[in-house]
Amino acid sequence: MSRPLPLSCARRCRARHLLLTVVALTGASALLAAPAEPRPASFRNPAGYEVLKCDFHIHTVFSDGQVWPTTRVAEAARDGLDAIAITDHREKQRFSADVTTAADANRSATLALEAAKANKVIVIRGTEITRSMPPGHGNAIFAKDAAALYKEEPIDAYRAARAQDCFVFWNHPHWIVQAHDGVARLSDLHRQLLKEGLLQGIEIVNEDTYSDEALQIALDHNLTILGNSDIHSITAWVYEGSHRPTNLVFVKERSEAGIKDALVNRRTVVWFANTLVGRPEWLEPLLGVSIVSKSAHYAVLARTGKPVVTSVLNVELENTSDVDFILQNRSAYTLHENADVLTLPRHSTKLVQVKTVKHLPEVVLTFEVLNAVTAPGKHGSVTLTVQPKAP
Ligand code: ZN
Repeated sequence: MSRPLPLSCARRCRARHLLLTVVALTGASALLAAPAEPRPASFRNPAGYEVLKCDFHIHTVFSDGQVWPTTRVAEAARDGLDAIAITDHREKQRFSADVTTAADANRSATLALEAAKANKVIVIRGTEITRSMPPGHGNAIFAKDAAALYKEEPIDAYRAARAQDCFVFWNHPHWIVQAHDGVARLSDLHRQLLKEGLLQGIEIVNEDTYSDEALQIALDHNLTILGNSDIHSITAWVYEGSHRPTNLVFVKERSEAGIKDALVNRRTVVWFANTLVGRPEWLEPLLGVSIVSKSAHYAVLARTGKPVVTSVLNVELENTSDVDFILQNRSAYTLHENADVLTLPRHSTKLVQVKTVKHLPEVVLTFEVLNAVTAPGKHGSVTLTVQPKAP
């Protein structure tokens, strides 16, 4: 997918555009050594895993993107990403008079891999298999040789990807250009791909779109849940003041092999706008380290004579993540200063008053996280057990 740059943004960013055009056209490594300040992107690691931030769907001038591959690496570093996959396609080469993968289908990823030596971004070699629906577009990543994946028949391209032990996913199954009602549906060809084990993941988020139906397909067919930028333009322009769709990948080892192991075993959560989407077994541990209680004590009334210890419990909640959480109280108690829905802004603490009616040595609080999706219409939740400090 690609969308035109809004005019106002284009005007605002003209100066930067000139600079980035120079970078895009020359791939000048001197300029890339000092990317703009990284935007904050931080999530705590649940026990046993490191959470890597990854974008597995990226275009450059070697297909129909607008920047040189090295710029993609600089953008990833600026965005605080741990890994990207370069997924150019041979089917549509927008600048073929000047730049093409015809001679070397691996060239764009090779340039990005070269640039990545100067920083910590892991670059994964990939290619897009770009066809009309069905099967639409797919990405094969961890490719050894992208050239060997160009086949006349789409199913042959998917079989070739399997032969290279690629991880293959269905791109934007809900793209309105190919699915006019925006609804992701399996075709007979997709069922064939699934039957042969040629499809391992599916984008439930692409660029600025989300699909509940794609999420259901992922759950029904045991596919890895993915969300990618599919960036063609300059990333900072498209996601100004926000962040690109990002896969939070739960790795045992920070390496290309570690990422592949996590993808094959479906250990992902998608961070899209202000929403997290993932299987409960990965989403809930992430919520568990993102929403924590820092302290709890019963409120004391000191306005008349002898202080009175009330049975209103002050709980200090902390949000350690980059998401503004929307919480719905599902505890056995009502709240004193909030209705049943409250927000917990990112990287902040908030005092929540809980009416436990009597003094309790231990209080269990449960919040449904309304912007954490585990299945269509279903949300993750977090349970906090707090022991109030003695007054
Ligand atoms: Zn694409």
